[in-house]
Amino acid sequence: AAEEGFDPEEVEGAIEAAGHGPLPVLAVVGRPNVGKSTLVNRIIGRREAVVEDKPGVTRDRVTYEAEWAGRRFKVVDTGGWEQDVLGIDASVAAQAEYAIEAADAVVFVVDAKVGATDTDEAVVRLLRKAGKPVVLCANKVDGPSGEADAAYLWSLGLGEPHPVSALHGRGTGDMLDKVLEALPEAPAQTFGTAVGGPRRIALIGRPNVGKSSLLNKVAGEERVVVNELAGTTRDPVDELIELGGVTWKFVDTAGIRKRVHLQQGADYYASLRTAAAVEKAEVAVILIDASESISVQDQRIVTMAVEAGRAIVLAFNKWDTLDEERRYYLEREIETELGQVAWAPRVNVSARTGRHMEKLVPAIETALAGWETRVPTGRLNAFLGELVAAHPHPIRGGKQPRILFGTQAGTKPPRFVLFATGFIEAGYRRFIERRLREEFGFEGTPIHLSVRVRE
Ligand code: GDP
Ligand code: GDP
Repeated sequence: AAEEGFDPEEVEGAIEAAGHGPLPVLAVVGRPNVGKSTLVNRIIGRREAVVEDKPGVTRDRVTYEAEWAGRRFKVVDTGGWEQDVLGIDASVAAQAEYAIEAADAVVFVVDAKVGATDTDEAVVRLLRKAGKPVVLCANKVDGPSGEADAAYLWSLGLGEPHPVSALHGRGTGDMLDKVLEALPEAPAQTFGTAVGGPRRIALIGRPNVGKSSLLNKVAGEERVVVNELAGTTRDPVDELIELGGVTWKFVDTAGIRKRVHLQQGADYYASLRTAAAVEKAEVAVILIDASESISVQDQRIVTMAVEAGRAIVLAFNKWDTLDEERRYYLEREIETELGQVAWAPRVNVSARTGRHMEKLVPAIETALAGWETRVPTGRLNAFLGELVAAHPHPIRGGKQPRILFGTQAGTKPPRFVLFATGFIEAGYRRFIERRLREEFGFEGTPIHLSVRVRE
């Protein structure tokens, strides 16, 4: 590497950064209007979250990537769901519950000017039960005079209240230092303790695509319910289900089975639940209703799973209802609307008739194998050498950026770092990704490509 003009330490660092593996998850929970979204904006350092959104407006995302003091993590923002027919307590509890379930640590936001309310106390009970590390954020402390308000929050019994002004940034750095202390390096519940246990599947898809029908079909009488959080309003529950002679863990099946009728915020609630399930899973089985046009909502769910870096299987359900014409149009729609996951294995099933249920497990296994694939550095560089020689990067401004070498920094999903002499254009990156897939497979998995440019 050194003779190519890269400092070996820089190479080392780049490989480590790119191969970070799954990121730990931080959930930001609390009552409406305490400043959760404002705080999330602060943490991610962008204006991307959605303070000005109206209640109930569908949001694209609930999970964001963030970095503080050189450490990366994900943030789950629960600010989008304001209230619903269940009443404020139940709705705050339910959203907090899903966020806490997915998280490795929690920031609990309280409005220090208002003080602790009964609803806050209810969330404290949930937090105690979950046993996750909690950092208490006493928000809206915009100046020194508010510090006394913050001190009152010791009464919640969650340890030191951290006085913060999410709006102005006051105190957020100190609080984030505490967050990093609370947050494990890697998501324990997802990839640490469970190694060697059953593989984890998230069965996701928009309402009415047939998730609970499919689950009932595959589960039969076999299922074992695990990991119950008793006594809460809506229990996230995982189920062990034997399929194809192997035991799998279907995560958050309670969310699938329970028919939640919400008006305001229902979409947001569904996407929060989906995000939580995806975070806990290794592979996402995305169910799509083949009898209807592929919708923006379907695409959002696909994007969520891709961005989370999970193995992906596409299952087109209700195949029993399709006539020849619909089949024709479906194929066109898949090409135009689902191009971003053209690499995902696909099964055409019917939860009603049981059609092709036996194809589900091989597809899942294929996706997991792609997700775990590791290409030896020698093979990768032989491949890159030939590729670059045969298809050089286009010349820009009289210069031709060249890829010197590369390495696979991590798996689950596969992550590559390429070292180059100049900026590599998006089109050429896509070309490399396509050729990598042709050469090495990677069926059913997103691929991360990062490029380091020699100074
Ligand atoms: P969420 O419902 O918990 O996500 O709350 P938002 O982030 O939407 O904030 C609710 C309101 O409180 C907005 O008008 C914010 O501008 C305001 N707010 C948030 N943080 C602070 C703060 O630190 N100080 C003050 N004074 N206002 C804040
Ligand atoms: P979920 O909201 O995704 O859990 O969807 P459900 O499992 O509740 O199914 C929604 C509706 O679609 C129900 O009326 C099911 O009977 C129906 N349904 C589910 N799978 C199939 C299928 O494969 N074929 C047909 N014809 N209907 C289905």
